[in-house]
Amino acid sequence: MQKPSHVLVLNCGSSSLKFAIVDPRDGRALLSGIGESLGESTPRISWKCEGRKNQQPLEQRSGHTAVIHFLVEQILSQQPALKTDLTAIGHRVVHGGEKFSHSVLIDQAVINAINECSALAPLHNPAHLLGIEAAAKAFPELPQIAVFDTAFHQSMPRHAYIYALPYSLYRDHGLRRYGMHGTSHRFVTERAAEILNLPLNEINLISAHLGNGASITAVKNGQSVDTSMGLTPLEGLVMGTRSGDVDPGLLMHLGNHLAFPIQQINSLLNKESGLLGISELSNDCRELEEAAEKGHTGALLALEIFCYRLAKYIASYYVPLGDVDALVFTGGIGENSSVIRQKVIDYLGGLGYRLAVERNLQARFGEEGPISADHSPMTLVIPTNEEWVIARDAAALVPPDTPNHDALTRE
Ligand code: AMP
Repeated sequence: MQKPSHVLVLNCGSSSLKFAIVDPRDGRALLSGIGESLGESTPRISWKCEGRKNQQPLEQRSGHTAVIHFLVEQILSQQPALKTDLTAIGHRVVHGGEKFSHSVLIDQAVINAINECSALAPLHNPAHLLGIEAAAKAFPELPQIAVFDTAFHQSMPRHAYIYALPYSLYRDHGLRRYGMHGTSHRFVTERAAEILNLPLNEINLISAHLGNGASITAVKNGQSVDTSMGLTPLEGLVMGTRSGDVDPGLLMHLGNHLAFPIQQINSLLNKESGLLGISELSNDCRELEEAAEKGHTGALLALEIFCYRLAKYIASYYVPLGDVDALVFTGGIGENSSVIRQKVIDYLGGLGYRLAVERNLQARFGEEGPISADHSPMTLVIPTNEEWVIARDAAALVPPDTPNHDALTRE
């Protein structure tokens, strides 16, 4: 019988580390978990394996290395088959700058390049490097692969990614729009092509990834040609706690007239704005929907602004695309909230969009498929699976002399 080979997928944030052991052939996660509040006073780890959930505190101020140590010594030691079946480690890396348009096998040059991009993602790239170092120590025999959030958007044309600022800022400092969530937009693009039975290099989509972070991408002939996030994940749509687009003059006003220090402006725009800031209640869409039903004016306004701004972005992407084969909703909100989808589509009536009400209500909890009314522009819900993309890319880049490589290449 064929021996399965799996990929350990790591997603290191500044104070968290998500891990999963994924079968690259079908995206099934055999184990998944997260270390949270890392470097803080009460870090903890929780994980799910074979349907059982577990949680345990970690030692005070434990960091990324401690999570990987716990994974190897405590979790995988109880499940030795999971460890022996590993063939690669795939890392989610937020920023690859202009250096990476595809996933790559990690070597010292790649580590240096990720480090050089740290200025563009100061919270994330240093954490990824910690994860890469810790994983290399724990699994010295396994190849490590970097999968970049920015890579899918490297196909954007210059007129979509250059800011209307002095060109020298781009030339000398790399200040331009890069876009994020590329792994998710790529996943739904590939899946939409399968669902609609269209060749990947011919499909035109508008892909709306709506989670706590949110971004929207125009996909032409299977490639990203515009996206709403920019130099950082702050630009674009209204998000859980991020403002999205604001007048840059507002930042000067906050500094000059209200005496906000730059750190406070940073925190205000990233952590206190968006759905949370408007509603003065919550960044959680589910909670806001419940409050809105009871007439909470802040929640009603937050949801309305979220949908209005999103609908304007969708309409604007007809400029780069011309013809659109489908609008796709994904991410926690896009996959589950029939309320948000209905509101957004209501704003797009002028472009002919209408939903099939029942299909829209049913599309949640992992359901995939069309939700548009007959004879209106195709609208799909596609649950994203970034871990699967990372596992697939990692499996594809495993060098032939790696343990378990043969099992991967035999279908
Ligand atoms: P993500 O960051 O992709 O995990 O998405 C998180 C967001 O999805 C939060 O705002 C959740 O409230 C939202 N969400 C998850 N399930 C639902 C649901 N059934 N209805 C509305 N929003 C949901």
